Amino acid sequence: MTDLIELLREGLPAEAVLTDPDVTGAYAHDMASFCEAGAPAVVVLPRTVEQVQHVCRTATALRVPVVPQGARTGLSGAANASDGCIVLSLVKMDRVLEINPVDRIAVVEPGVINAALSRAVMEKGLYYPPDPSSWEQCTIGGNIGTASGGLCCVKYGVTAEYVLGLDVVLADGRLLKTGRRTAKGVAGYDLTRLFVGSEGSLGIVVGAVLALKPAPPEHLVLAAEFPSTASACDAICRIMERGHTPSLLELMDRTSVRAVNAMGNMGLPESTEALLMAAFDTPDPASDLAAVAELCTAAGATEVVPAEDAAESDLLLQARRMTLPALEAVKGVTMIDDVCVPRSRLAEMIDGTAAIAAKYGLTIGVVAHAGDGNTHPTVCFDAGDPDESRRAGSPSTRSWLWAWSWAAPSPVNTASAS
Ligand SMILES: Cc1cc2nc3c(=O)[nH]c(=O)nc-3n(C[C@H](O)[C@H](O)[C@H](O)COP(=O)(O)OP(=O)(O)OC[C@H]3O[C@@H](n4cnc5c(N)ncnc54)[C@H](O)[C@@H]3O)c2cc1C
Repeated sequence: MTDLIELLREGLPAEAVLTDPDVTGAYAHDMASFCEAGAPAVVVLPRTVEQVQHVCRTATALRVPVVPQGARTGLSGAANASDGCIVLSLVKMDRVLEINPVDRIAVVEPGVINAALSRAVMEKGLYYPPDPSSWEQCTIGGNIGTASGGLCCVKYGVTAEYVLGLDVVLADGRLLKTGRRTAKGVAGYDLTRLFVGSEGSLGIVVGAVLALKPAPPEHLVLAAEFPSTASACDAICRIMERGHTPSLLELMDRTSVRAVNAMGNMGLPESTEALLMAAFDTPDPASDLAAVAELCTAAGATEVVPAEDAAESDLLLQARRMTLPALEAVKGVTMIDDVCVPRSRLAEMIDGTAAIAAKYGLTIGVVAHAGDGNTHPTVCFDAGDPDESRRAGSPSTRSWLWAWSWAAPSPVNTASAS
């Protein structure tokens, strides 16, 4: 242990090596409070690639595990410390090194906050689409580690589609450069893609070349209330079938709507069984929203409310982005899952989840990137209640999902939430 700290200090400034257990303990886990975490031996906060290389060389020499971390907003425990590990936090490497409007790329360090990058490129008339709901906190390194998606992915795709090249420090300290900064690049194995979603298991991302798009027109959002999840999902099918290209298509079930109102007094309609939000950033969003409003009404919506301006749209999105913390506030702890189904089978997924919640006597809210068929069934439970924790977390934690996927003959993709 003393050797480890001394060796680390040889290549890092004193303030970048934290050893006080009261401080290092704060870096032990991400936002998945139900996942186990160990006690790190030390937390390091490098500012340069060379310092990251020094940490990796030291760790390999002493056979100490390294856990890379961004903002620790992950929801699957992937950034959790193991006992005696080095936590390698990349948050101090937070510079946007280049924004190039001609090549439509940004070159960034891993600790850049997603929203900070989005705002910086927006100033130059550009757009970085991947926008996890945690975008005000999460880092680009973490987004790459988890292959994150977000609200706008229905139209613009997920993080993997925007990572053109990476600088990665490998376990032995070597620096690997992958990919390209050109618009086209098809030669050779796609090592860049391999690193996206690898949760830090293959190396430490210390730099990234990201693709940008021209900034779209400001989007407008519509909210539609439905008397059942089946009718809301019918509306989703109609919208996609007619060839619309919403920049966002999100669904909140009744539990989620109530949780958001309880937390933020957002005035969402509590009598609704499902609330659908659609947005367009097309040249004429108002007419696209009008067409979608008609489809929602035809599918059985009881009320359709288009936002009048950007401020109203932002308020609706704010409500959507609050859903996970709001569900956590319901009983103190959540176990959030991440299940993708074909859009055409969303209703079965959501109603199936409700049936499982009833069977196990649990509160499960479902919020979905509905346009992608990507649902987050979120089990809310009281960690102080052993029986409820047991029903929520073991082994039924997975079995209710498996139970559902057994019943679903077509492809279902379950993954830990990220
Ligand atoms: C309220 C809320 C809403 C969320 N909404 C979404 C959403 O809409 N979509 C979504 O995809 N996720 C969402 N998440 C989950 C989470 O925010 C994302 O997974 C995010 O990408 C994690 O970024 P982070 O900086 O917090 O990374 P961390 O949680 O610190 O790390 C995540 C993983 O990446 C690895 N890692 C971090 N940095 C590096 C690096 N430089 N090199 C190599 N590996 C690294 C870690 O080891 C870990 O495996 C949400 C979380 C919260 C709390």
